[in-house]
Order: sequence, then C-alpha cells, then structure tokens
Amino acid sequence: MKAKSVSIKDINRNQIYKLLRQNESLSKQDIAYQLQLSLPTVTQNLNLLLEQNLIANTGTIGNTGGRKARAYSCVSNAKAAIGLDITRHQITIVAVDLSGNVIQIKRKNEPFERTDEYFRLLGMMVQETVKDLELEPSKILGVGIAVPGLITEDHQTVFYGKILDFTGETLRQFAKYIPYPSILINDANAAGISEMWVRPEMTNAFYISLSTNIGGAVYIDKQVYTGENQKSGEIGHITIVPDGFPCYCGQMGCLEAYCSASLLADAGNGSLEIFFNQVKEGKADKLKIWDQYLWYLSIAINNIRMLFDCDIILGGYVGAFMDEYIDTLKKLVSLRNTFEHRADFLLTCNYKTEAIAAGAALPFIKEFIDQI
Ligand SMILES: [Zn+2]
Repeated sequence: MKAKSVSIKDINRNQIYKLLRQNESLSKQDIAYQLQLSLPTVTQNLNLLLEQNLIANTGTIGNTGGRKARAYSCVSNAKAAIGLDITRHQITIVAVDLSGNVIQIKRKNEPFERTDEYFRLLGMMVQETVKDLELEPSKILGVGIAVPGLITEDHQTVFYGKILDFTGETLRQFAKYIPYPSILINDANAAGISEMWVRPEMTNAFYISLSTNIGGAVYIDKQVYTGENQKSGEIGHITIVPDGFPCYCGQMGCLEAYCSASLLADAGNGSLEIFFNQVKEGKADKLKIWDQYLWYLSIAINNIRMLFDCDIILGGYVGAFMDEYIDTLKKLVSLRNTFEHRADFLLTCNYKTEAIAAGAALPFIKEFIDQI
C-alpha cells in the first residue's frame, strides 16, 4: 500500500509541474482547482518542487476583491541539455532549457574526421558551452549527438554511415571527451523531435528533412517509430524514378538523387540563398530546376500521405525556404491525391536552422520532466 501512495504523490507532483510549464504562473488555488487536488496536497508538492529549485515564487496574482495569492512559476534554467549536430563540414552545438528553448547556439566550420583530435574538439565545445551558460555541471542532463547515419537501438553505434564514411563508429569515441551522459541519434529523427515538441497537440506526423541528404522520421503516438531494424522513414531512398539517376547509396532513382538540397545549391553558385533569390527574380533556368524539384517532391509526399494519413512536416535546408512555395507544393500534391482535394496536411518547419541539434538535446529534457 505504501508504494502505491508514494506513486500517486509522484503523479500529483508531476502533474503540478507540467501544469506550471504550460502557464506563465499560477497560484496554489489555481492549481488545486485545475487539477482537482486538495490544497494541502498542492502545498506539499509545491514545497518539494521549491526545494529542488524547479519552481520559484514569482510575485503575486491578484484576486478580485480578495487577498493577493502567491504565484508560482517554473524555473526554466534549473537544468539544461546539450545537442550536437555533426555534418560533413560543420558542427552545431546548442543548449536547451527545461522549456525546450534554445538558450545557446554556436557553429564551427570543421570537417568531420574520425580522429582523436576531432572528438577532443567535440568535448571542448561541450565544456565551453557549459561554461558560457554559467551553469553548474550538475545541472547538465546530458548530451545528444546527432549524426547523418543510422544508429543502433541502444544509441551506441552507427550501423550505416555512408554519408560520413563512418559506419561502425561508436558513442564511446564520439563522447570520449564529454563528461556527461550521452547518446547518438539519427539527424532526421532529432529534427522531427524538435518539430513535434513545438506542436504538443500533434500525435502523428511524418517529418522530411530536405538537406544535402534527405532523411525522414515517423512519429506515431508522439513517439519516433524507428522500425524493426532502426531503418524506418528513410524517404530519401524510396524509388521515385525507376532506374533513374544514381544515388550515393548505390541504387538508381532514389528521391535523394532528385531532391537533395545540393542540386539547388549547385545551381546557385553553391548557395541555397542565391538560388532562391534567383527563383524570386524569375530566372527561367532556376525556375525550371525548382519546378522539377517540387514535382518530384510532390510524388514522395503523396506516397507518404497514402501510407500514413498524417501531417507531413517539411524541414531541413530546403524546408527553411519553403514557406513562400508551400501553396504551389500543396497544389501539386493535391493533384495526385486520390481522396483529398486539399493538402492542408503539409506543414513547413518551425525551426529554421537548429532543429537537429535541439532535437538531439530534447530527449534528455523530456526524460527529466517525466520523472519529476
Ligand atoms: Zn539511395
């Protein structure tokens, strides 16, 4: 019986904390009313949360005619997690607070190498970030390392890493100089976690990362569906044109060969920004490339919609430019759709640059919040 009463207490405390997260500040009475808990229960749990510095008294809330009630709020920076986004030429590091806000971001141009020097640099970047945040090391929940590769279920090993030629690389190496709990995570899965985080009402979604490489992630019931073998959502390698252009993976006609961001960047002197400026200016050759890109993308999107019947979020480098073209893309997609005349299930990403790094950090935040 004792165990049971403890667990109910834990549930109450967790509910109180989560309610406070959703509100700027609340009084004890507000909390008791909204959660249908007794005032002593609320008081007891608020005191526990205050002791742990997870919440604070933040002034008073006016009651009409009555005494002013004390207000409680969450302390967002009570803990933080760190996320790294490793790409071929760049390292992005972010720190995320308990609200999921990115409170620190840094980028470094550094080509990926499987050397001790490189992994030491990762460690230094983490240490620097912790120092800049002026947070005690004990407040750092963990470090998520997002990489363009497929990761084993235990988050320890890259089992397919053709993009960076790092198949077989381990967390032990990546985190050799990182003195915090760490995980490896697939980059597209991480980016999708960020997008789901800012849409708490969303239960199911498919996230497409339209970057140099194309990744995807399936979210069912708010969880990443990784598949039986951690290979789900690999939308970059669905066949879009039978026996079409060669893909780096060795197959022909993959979506990646038609919708990689590099195809657009190459047409814009190596810059996506230049490319999209030229599209805006109406340059005929660039418009043609962009139209073709959207056309192939619409095939992939329609296939995803037919399979999953859920919202589809467009992210990655190209997703960040998609707001202006989303209506055009929606039209192309709806023309292919057997059941629907509108493609309002198609959404552009909220995070424009740091989705992957933030999403690598968020699992630590979520885990912590769930156990409060
Ligand atoms: Zn492929």
